[in-house]
Amino acid sequence: MADIKTVGVVGAGQMGNGIAHVCALAGYDVALSDISGDALEKGVATIEQNMSRQVARDLITPDDMKAALARIRTSTELSVFEASNLIIEAASENRELKEKIFEGICAVAPRDAYLATNTSSISITRLAAATDRPEKFIGLHFMNPVPLMQLMEIIRGLATDQDTYDTALAFSQRIGKTTTNAEDYPAFIVNRILMPMINEAVYTLYEGVGSVEAIDTAMRLGANHPMGPLTLADFIGLDTCLSIMQVLHDGLADTKYRPCPLLVKYVEAGWLGRKSGRGFYDYSGDAPVPTR
Ligand code: NAD
Repeated sequence: MADIKTVGVVGAGQMGNGIAHVCALAGYDVALSDISGDALEKGVATIEQNMSRQVARDLITPDDMKAALARIRTSTELSVFEASNLIIEAASENRELKEKIFEGICAVAPRDAYLATNTSSISITRLAAATDRPEKFIGLHFMNPVPLMQLMEIIRGLATDQDTYDTALAFSQRIGKTTTNAEDYPAFIVNRILMPMINEAVYTLYEGVGSVEAIDTAMRLGANHPMGPLTLADFIGLDTCLSIMQVLHDGLADTKYRPCPLLVKYVEAGWLGRKSGRGFYDYSGDAPVPTR
């Protein structure tokens, strides 16, 4: 089992900056890359903000924070992964995009580097097949927000070898996550169950059974969920929710997974949830305001 010293992270969005955050605090050197320089700047600012909160709550010391931030290097070029031992891809949920990214990574990463994807739903086996090392490829599905959520799903592709799995397990222990194993079928465990529930909440809204507020209140107080399904959808990102439903629908060929047309419409409008400032709620004011 190889020693991991440097972790590469592709994508500095909600998930990528969270993964960089926990890796840097666990003592790994981190190489963080995004196609957008703006996203990199925002990602690092978010990491600083979130670590400051941890300092304020006495979860980490100011020295821990300073040392962790000093371990993070950023670049818009994939060449930043030249010395990475494990590279975790957390770019947008799109198969062609991810395959292209892995092609680029394979051209620059050390031949013995492990490759992982944080995809929520796409076949690990298929993404692995787009690389030159499917045996060293694995799914590491973190939850959002990464610094707070305990779980990481581990998904082996058809070709993933035991050494890669053992390395992923050791890595998860060092960053303090609890793992579950899921087989490589569309959306794995968490999203196979969670996403149809969110999609059904959007259908409930689409069919006029309840307003945004009524649906969220019903599920918070009636099912004891910590947040309503539409608030959660905004938090995850409506583009990500739609992509996952499409993967479930295509992969399992069952009409029960058809994405709600209203979800499609929100994504078409660019109303992607919190990250774009508007989704089922408008986030431009002090408190979120329902958009329907
Ligand atoms: P996001 O939209 O916040 O971030 C995606 C980032 O990828 C953006 O910063 C974008 O600039 C970058 N990107 C796009 N194309 C790129 C390229 N060619 N090279 C490098 N970077 C590129 O999305 P997110 O919520 O962070 O999701 C990222 C991944 O994590 C997706 O696969 C998603 O399914 C998965 N995921 C999301 C959640 C969630 O709750 N949001 C949870 C678990 C897993």
